[in-house]
Amino acid sequence: MIRLVNVSKVVASGSEQLTILHSLTLEIARGQFVSVVGPSGSGKSTLLSLTAGLDAPTSGEIYLDGREITSMSEDDLAQLRGEKVGFIFQSFHLIPSLTAYENILVPMEIMGISGAKIRAQQLLDEVGLHDRGHHYPSQLSGGEQQRVAIARAFANDPPILLADEPTGNLDSRNGAHVFELLVNLNRERGTTLLLVTHDHELAGRADRRITLREGRVVEDCEPKQTEREVLSAEC
Ligand code: ADP
Ligand code: MG
Repeated sequence: MIRLVNVSKVVASGSEQLTILHSLTLEIARGQFVSVVGPSGSGKSTLLSLTAGLDAPTSGEIYLDGREITSMSEDDLAQLRGEKVGFIFQSFHLIPSLTAYENILVPMEIMGISGAKIRAQQLLDEVGLHDRGHHYPSQLSGGEQQRVAIARAFANDPPILLADEPTGNLDSRNGAHVFELLVNLNRERGTTLLLVTHDHELAGRADRRITLREGRVVEDCEPKQTEREVLSAEC
């Protein structure tokens, strides 16, 4: 579902070249739940942005559901992203001047999805915000805002969901709720989930865990089922 071939990212930093991601080849199967861990600055967000086509790699090819994105036009890429990818950010990225309901509805209307109004309400129900649709982001807690963002990311039922520290700004209770929502969506809809987290307990519950350090994959492993059940992050 996601395939990166010799993907790297190098940026200019003053007169120096800074390698944010060293050449990386990675394949993630449909429906797999992969966690990405690593110290701050190790390239996790860069990996997700490249995968989403939000940023261009310096070298390499990126395939989403079989389609190579680095050679696509902006329009084609935007179209593909709209169909295939949901993205959830640590800081929610809701539009403050729109209500919760509108934050979910408006992107669907822009994409021309039929039945958007009914679907937006269903999505609010699914994330447990049935009666909060008329509230603005500033009137919602962090956990509630992130649930709106999840509903928005799922509006189009994308096969790929990318989440960059989605629980990073939440307390443990709200974080757990948001995490369960994501895991359930992965399990029930077969959504391929790539999730960056600092929380090793959460990371240990993924099918697979990728560890980055200084722009390199230093570990790529599948936590054992029994260990997953006791929430261990060991492989
Ligand atoms: P992480 O998400 O693991 O904390 P990032 O992917 O955000 O790491 O960043 C990796 C490294 O690359 C960091 O040192 C960051 O400062 C640097 N970096 C990211 N984007 C840019 C950029 N556009 N220009 C220069 N440096 C960048
Ligand atoms: Mg980051």
